[in-house]
Amino acid sequence: MFRLRGHHLLCLLGYRGMGYSQPYVENMTRIHQTLRTTPDTEVLLVAGADDLCDKFPISQTYHCDDVNIHVRDAAILAKLQLEIGQQLTWAAIQNRIQGDIVPKDVANFCSTCTWRSYGVCEEGVEEIRAGKGLRVIER
Ligand code: SF4
Repeated sequence: MFRLRGHHLLCLLGYRGMGYSQPYVENMTRIHQTLRTTPDTEVLLVAGADDLCDKFPISQTYHCDDVNIHVRDAAILAKLQLEIGQQLTWAAIQNRIQGDIVPKDVANFCSTCTWRSYGVCEEGVEEIRAGKGLRVIER
């Protein structure tokens, strides 16, 4: 089981192997690829720092507890009709995303995110909506 916060449910869709540091990327790739290959993996929805935040580098400015990040988590969970404390499979989360999120929602949820300019998160939502699942990360 993985502990994930609301906005990371969308970050995982656009993940292409980029991240804040090598340990962060290795951890995110492990979680991402486990969800890809084993979508029955259980996910516990948590408030605040999660299994991805755990590897945020101490050398960089910690933003995981910023108010706007919590607001983003709450908005995405609300759109998916999910709640903190709920536990469900990644497959069930993907089904919610397919039904409740469209690519242009990323601009609304994530207006301040520095990763958004890559366009990969919108692309990831589109791929989930098309039933393609998560991408293979080859690194
Ligand atoms: S734009 Fe940023 S916060 Fe939003 S899903 Fe992508 S990486 Fe995550």
